[in-house]
Amino acid sequence: MEPGFRLLVIDLGASSASTQVVPPSYVEHYLGGVGLVVRLLWDYCPPGADPLGPDNPLVFATGAMAGTLVPTSSKHAVAAKSPLTGFVGDSLSGGPWSLAFRRTGYSAIVVQGMAPTPTYVFIDDDTVHFRPATHLWGRGSYETEQLIRKELGDSAVRVSSIGPAGENKVRYACIGNDGTRQAGRTGLGAVMGSKRLKAIAVRGTRAVQVANHDRLVQVSIDLLKRGQGPATEKYRILGTVGNVLSLNRLGALPTNNFQRSTFPGAEAVSGEYLYQRYFRNTSACPACPIACQHNYRVTEGEYQGTRAQLDYESLFALGPLNGIASLPPILRAAQLCDELGLDTISTGVALAWAAECYQRGVLDEVDRGALHPAFGDYEALLRMLPRIATRSGLGDLLAEGVKRASASVGQGSEHWAMHAKGLELPGYEPRTLKTLALGLATGTRGGCHNRSAAYDVDMSGTVDRFRGEVGRGPLAAETEDLAATLDSLILCKFIRRCFDDLYAESARLFSLTTGLNSDAKELRRAGQRVVNLKKAFNIREGWTHQDDTLPPRLFSDPLPDGVGQGVSLGREELELMIADYYQARGWTAQGLIPEKKLRELGMGDIAAQLREVHDGHRRHNL
Ligand code: SF4
Repeated sequence: MEPGFRLLVIDLGASSASTQVVPPSYVEHYLGGVGLVVRLLWDYCPPGADPLGPDNPLVFATGAMAGTLVPTSSKHAVAAKSPLTGFVGDSLSGGPWSLAFRRTGYSAIVVQGMAPTPTYVFIDDDTVHFRPATHLWGRGSYETEQLIRKELGDSAVRVSSIGPAGENKVRYACIGNDGTRQAGRTGLGAVMGSKRLKAIAVRGTRAVQVANHDRLVQVSIDLLKRGQGPATEKYRILGTVGNVLSLNRLGALPTNNFQRSTFPGAEAVSGEYLYQRYFRNTSACPACPIACQHNYRVTEGEYQGTRAQLDYESLFALGPLNGIASLPPILRAAQLCDELGLDTISTGVALAWAAECYQRGVLDEVDRGALHPAFGDYEALLRMLPRIATRSGLGDLLAEGVKRASASVGQGSEHWAMHAKGLELPGYEPRTLKTLALGLATGTRGGCHNRSAAYDVDMSGTVDRFRGEVGRGPLAAETEDLAATLDSLILCKFIRRCFDDLYAESARLFSLTTGLNSDAKELRRAGQRVVNLKKAFNIREGWTHQDDTLPPRLFSDPLPDGVGQGVSLGREELELMIADYYQARGWTAQGLIPEKKLRELGMGDIAAQLREVHDGHRRHNL
């Protein structure tokens, strides 16, 4: 990155800020974005920190190319120790906030401590202001943005904020920016709320310096053109909601809390029908030729006036997973989640878990007087959302996430608590997508399809997706390395098919921007480093091999429907793939990283610090 890649360190307890320079080796080794936020998390988060305590830092960073013409690069990453998993929590968002933040001249922020009263931070190029936010506490994300812009008297100010869910430390609260964008997963909004930090407003007016401007513009324009071609058509026309019918056909659309793999109401909630009936327009992150964000509006009926963006994951979680076959309430639920600051995936999975509890007579009327969640009952679902965000009645239990909620309720409800490492599962059926099952089980941030795109392997047609076998380990690791590279550069994954040679061409873009020498081989190693760094963080925080697993339902309940009828996931089948994956990574049979492996990757400092923590534990246990 250009000399002086600057880091802003904020101490909320002292209302102070200082500027530091990111060590150049961090950028060389971890690129930026997710790689950089996790590297800074490693430095600033003391081992064993309480995720909702003042010691847990909240870290933001853009990629090196943010603010340039490079398509899909104006995004940012956020990280903290996750209150949902207790392991590494990282998430991505994009939009004008990312661009404005980069234009302040900073590329990363570490927020430490806890404010004595609700506060928002305004970064005005070089100057940092701490402002009271008591009047904003309790407001939704969108309203907060509007009020801050009005207060600062500048419509160009961009705001990243939490809603009531973050304030109330809902363990899957998200951080929203620019109205409809979220750093959604792993509960980073709860970390922000625990610090009483309502928002980070930015006004950036500086040009972003790059190493070779003219050549970077040429290469970017070429990529912009490719970004408007057939490789991105799916995202431009229907968006990811187009997955509903294809996953339904593949027996991979989780329905009624993963009790089924096909949804009888799929046509009624399909991307095609959504487009035909409710589509309004598309919008895009800065410098993006794809514009995958589809905006919808309900113009009549009970939910008239609803406006929302919807992607496949939100649609699956608030629709089929909860047995809901009507689009207007799904759109309304998505809009409410955005306003309240709730991650749609975890929210949908928590509600589906509760619906199954009631179905099986497990959960009594905890929330007397309220409609309890039931499959297909969209009024109950909508009524529960504010209750989760404010931790009222049953909402307080669901705000803990399904891992903790099921441990508290017991009565066998852990069987249908659909999570990995505490993070609620995304919208793909692991019993019919066995490589994905491996990716979900071993993923460092838990049940996530975005950090391991192992479903790409299953969909490729080159493997038997109904069978887990040796050979999937290296394939899953490859998709994970690729995701880590893209998330650190940052380039949006939706542009990945526009490259002839993704690693080589991305390395070129990175070099033209930063002036650092890079090539395909070095970029691959950077992706591996990021994955190993995240794993090292988890090991430091107490990860063991037992954490790499999936919910009991997947092992013992064969699918009752679809092309995968009768299929389940064998424990031995998963263990076989996990062993293969550890081997592909060069890890031990127990999934630990040998020091030698870290040193090979140029991570000797991490190896030494990990050893210190282990030695400390050993001494403590003597
Ligand atoms: S494809 Fe979508 S998410 Fe990706 S950069 Fe473009 S608008 Fe943003």
